[in-house]
Amino acid sequence: MRDVIPGSDRPFPPDSGATVGRLNAEQWLAAIVESSDDAILGESLSGIITSWNAAATRIFGYEADVAIGKPVSMLAWPGEEGQVEVLLEKLRQGERVDHFEVARRHKSGRKIIVSLSLSPIVDSEGKIVGIAKIARDITERKISEQVLAANELRVLTLTEQQAIDHAEVLAERKFRELIENAPDAILQVDSTGSILIANRTAETMFRYSREELIGKGVDMLVPDANRAGHAGHRRAFASAGMTRPMGLGLDLLAQRKDGTSFPVEISLSPVRTETGVNVTAVIRDVTERKQTEQRVRTLQESYMTELEARQKEAERLNRLKSEFMASISHELRTPLHTIIGFAELLEEEAEASLSEKQRRFLHHIHTDSEHLLSLINDVLDLSRIEAGGLNLRAEALSLQEIVTQSVNAIRPYANSKAVSVREGGQLEVGVWADPTRLRQILYNLLSNGAKFTKAGGEVWVEAAVEGSLVKITVGDTGLGIAPEECIRIFDKFYQVGFTPVGVREGTGLGLAICKQLVEMQGGKIWVESKPQEGSRFHFTLPYREL
Ligand code: ADP
Repeated sequence: MRDVIPGSDRPFPPDSGATVGRLNAEQWLAAIVESSDDAILGESLSGIITSWNAAATRIFGYEADVAIGKPVSMLAWPGEEGQVEVLLEKLRQGERVDHFEVARRHKSGRKIIVSLSLSPIVDSEGKIVGIAKIARDITERKISEQVLAANELRVLTLTEQQAIDHAEVLAERKFRELIENAPDAILQVDSTGSILIANRTAETMFRYSREELIGKGVDMLVPDANRAGHAGHRRAFASAGMTRPMGLGLDLLAQRKDGTSFPVEISLSPVRTETGVNVTAVIRDVTERKQTEQRVRTLQESYMTELEARQKEAERLNRLKSEFMASISHELRTPLHTIIGFAELLEEEAEASLSEKQRRFLHHIHTDSEHLLSLINDVLDLSRIEAGGLNLRAEALSLQEIVTQSVNAIRPYANSKAVSVREGGQLEVGVWADPTRLRQILYNLLSNGAKFTKAGGEVWVEAAVEGSLVKITVGDTGLGIAPEECIRIFDKFYQVGFTPVGVREGTGLGLAICKQLVEMQGGKIWVESKPQEGSRFHFTLPYREL
């Protein structure tokens, strides 16, 4: 150890020259300092290192020749340099500092914790000439303390372990309760079919006590008739090793202790153990559900039988009604034809001999008889359709031909109202239809169009092929129909409430007949219309190449 005490020409320690054994006091002191476990440093009052022992090298990493002459602040932990100055200031004031624990920086940059004891060095005149510093490395002790503190925490964690154990016991108890009180019977069976676990519901369901179940073969819970094959099923399930859910639609039966059987649903899941595959079975008694299902089925069946009987009766009555209507209409038509015929004859022959008033009466007889006849014709048609008595004779037709015939038939009426009639669109196509009935549909629609169109307006027929269908449209520039009426006008006897004066004639059956006829020929009918903007009645028929 080399000692230099700045500002002093006296050797250190001050009583050098005294001899202890073969060493003088200075050598002896130097030996003590050198062999100390603690770092012993001398520092000037300005904080420059003046002496440095071997322990200082060990603790801080610097060799003596490097450290001596350097400011002591090089040992400060970064950011804590100010602390060095504070300590120095205390020493300058002649104070001592004992066991001051502080972080220091090893040469390698590692943090070390040291306990510092500092005392001022005073010369013979009592003047402070330097600082003696003893630094003890307490890093390890600090770490041990931290470990200890952590161990104290660990003790707590052990406490925690008890809490965990307790929670596990509680959880297990809850789990057991859950199993015990499950609404389904729960059994666990080992690979030989012997029952290992049975819950309370299993006892009540099968009417065996738990002692009677545990250790016994599960096959005793299978009805006698099915028992023989059960062991095979069990083995097959264990080797497949797959969970089998409930409700597979199998009609399974189980047997109680008293030999009675009941319907069940069973879910099976394999549990692999060291001794083989155990199987957990959850068994649900579905007696009530099956009974309810049976009751619902019986009810449904009797309801269906009743419904069918009622439907048949309704159909019979409907047919009777239609037959009656058909025969009545037929009976009515004959005298009506006579009335109309004679009215026409009278009109022609007695033109000159009748007064103006008589001619008017005669005209009323004629027109109203005609109206009555068309009403009867419609009723007859509809009755026949509804009674299934209208046989259609469909054939491949030229649409153009039928349209022209229908347009020619309506023209006199349309002309009388100053409504023009035209044909347009793709009429040169073939359709699959009954010619009479197609004419009837077109005539009905065209006469409606003319009827609900004012003088100067027009009605027309056009067509377009759409896939396997021909769409035929009868349009007019007339009165139009409110949206809410557009479906109802196809109902029997339905006539839109508001009609302008002179327009309300007809039966309310024309469109109902058209709908029936179109549908009987494999088509659909609908209308597009807006009040005051005219109407377009569309219907489809199967397309046929001519
Ligand atoms: P009706 O013999 O009264 O014409 P329909 O069944 O042929 O019976 O028609 C039912 C009702 O639908 C008619 O009364 C009329 O109110 C309405 N309707 C039918 N065609 C047209 C049309 N082209 N324009 C306006 N309204 C129509």
